[in-house]
Amino acid sequence: MHRCKKCFMPDTRPGSIFDEEGVCRACRNYEKRKSIDWDSRKKELDELCDKYRRDDGYYDCLIPVSGGKDSHRIVYEMKVLRGMNPLLITIGDAFTQTQAGLRNYRNLGETFNCDHILFDLSIDLFKRVTRIAFEKTGEPLKFIEAAIYTVPIKMAIELRIPLVSFGENAAYEYGTTADENNSANETVKRIFDSIDVSFWQENGVSMKEMNAIIPPINDEFKATNPLVIYLSYYVPWSSTANLDIAKRYGFCDLAHEWIREGYIENFEQIDSFAYIIHLWMKYPKFGFQRTSDIASRRVREGLLGLPEAKKTINEYDHMIDQRALEDYCNTLGYSKKEFWDIVDKFWNPDLFEKADCLWRRKEDVFGEDVEGQE
Ligand SMILES: [Zn+2]
Repeated sequence: MHRCKKCFMPDTRPGSIFDEEGVCRACRNYEKRKSIDWDSRKKELDELCDKYRRDDGYYDCLIPVSGGKDSHRIVYEMKVLRGMNPLLITIGDAFTQTQAGLRNYRNLGETFNCDHILFDLSIDLFKRVTRIAFEKTGEPLKFIEAAIYTVPIKMAIELRIPLVSFGENAAYEYGTTADENNSANETVKRIFDSIDVSFWQENGVSMKEMNAIIPPINDEFKATNPLVIYLSYYVPWSSTANLDIAKRYGFCDLAHEWIREGYIENFEQIDSFAYIIHLWMKYPKFGFQRTSDIASRRVREGLLGLPEAKKTINEYDHMIDQRALEDYCNTLGYSKKEFWDIVDKFWNPDLFEKADCLWRRKEDVFGEDVEGQE
């Protein structure tokens, strides 16, 4: 494993791109921000909203939201600043929600005065598909992550809502692509093409249960053909700026509720307890997880120095939060032993070796090349 010289992002991240100087694409993309004319990008968004805004009682845009700080930022940009009439939609999961998550979900509809659809998958189905995906692929939320794209787009088509606004272009921000684009339509199409219905059928899920992940058919698409945008193309996206705006509008973090093991912040992915187990699964597979993600992001944003980032990653990146694990096992019906027996299949033998029934890193979290960096 090698890490980016500038931000410590590991090259084991799937799809990551590094240049010959050992710098990751996320850093290069971030540097490009300085040369972007943000005023003209904002004007583009203003003009786009002018084109789609309706005052006749119909929704003019659909915003998929979790209730998090980024959701607050999107609704703020579209409704408060640009007077759009959005419908919000949340795809729920069956993990136990945090108090903050419950409050934030409610706050979105109340503070911004928006109608809000909650789409909950059948709890029985959620448990089965999450177990299947965890056991077979090590990606517990494979099914629901497909539904997160499919359901809102189908809803937009069904309700004839011509504009869908996502927040961040994660592929661009995390540096798995150099293409910056205002439209997410290509990404959505790629995700739809990658949905493998036969995988679920082979594992006992019936076709009748797959409505939430079956993409809209082409004819349906043509009728409305919603434009799907990334807001991060139009406004400089920053998790801390989003947090500040969200807090002004009533968002609350986990400060008074839960101090998470392995986490260096308390305001990202806080809606439910067990969701972060899905994020932790990157650790056995790729040798890094959330601490690396957040630390390298903070470094790029100039909010964390490399020495502190290094210390933090060394100290925390391997950790799994016990409360999250408890809720994950309780919801899905695993004992802790069963959980670890399943995880056992996913440790990457290039990075880890097993001794006395425990997996240990073969080399330092930083590999050899990063040693001695400032
Ligand atoms: Zn980097």
